[in-house]
Amino acid sequence: MLYIMQNCVYEFGKSIYINLTNECSNSCDFCIRNFKEGVGGSELWLDHEPSAAEVEAELEKRDLASYDGAVFCGFGEPTCAFDRLLEVAAWLKARGVSTRLNTNGQANLICGTTDAAERLAPVMDSVSVSLNASSAEKYQATCHSRFGEKGYAAMLDFVRDCVRAGIDTTVSVVDLIGEKEVEECGRIAASLGAKYRVRPAIEADSDY
Ligand code: SF4
Repeated sequence: MLYIMQNCVYEFGKSIYINLTNECSNSCDFCIRNFKEGVGGSELWLDHEPSAAEVEAELEKRDLASYDGAVFCGFGEPTCAFDRLLEVAAWLKARGVSTRLNTNGQANLICGTTDAAERLAPVMDSVSVSLNASSAEKYQATCHSRFGEKGYAAMLDFVRDCVRAGIDTTVSVVDLIGEKEVEECGRIAASLGAKYRVRPAIEADSDY
């Protein structure tokens, strides 16, 4: 495992990405962290968990208007750093930058709360939640949530809460799961009122 400094902010495509933590409540079989040290040439294992002020100082070095928006994404699960996530997102929103969260959807379990979506809504324009599977059993077999099969139910509740809170909400799967499972997950997305995205596996390292 390689650790370097100053990798809490990195560019990928037309967006600026924010990497708040190494922690995650899952240990997914397909996680990029099992295979690579980073994304798009940026090495992403953090040598320490950056404070909101550190992240903002890194962001201030950039021309934020030149990006399509800011994405809170890996290497770890951003909601494992929930307070810092809210603080940096509010900082970005105050500067007119659009914000997106890529998440495993387990924020309420991670934070021991029930209102994660409501707290995100004022500062997060969109949320992309990894659905990954059509049942708790299948999800747990692949994603190994530390919360057991409760992780899947909590993720579905979080998606519903985000939709209800008015956040532009997408659930995603990787196309490796098979046609039937892709269709079933699409039905679940519709039942949750969320948009649905099937990601080619080749993108899995950019936007999981
Ligand atoms: S939820 Fe995301 S960061 Fe966590 S193990 Fe799974 S793919 Fe990796």
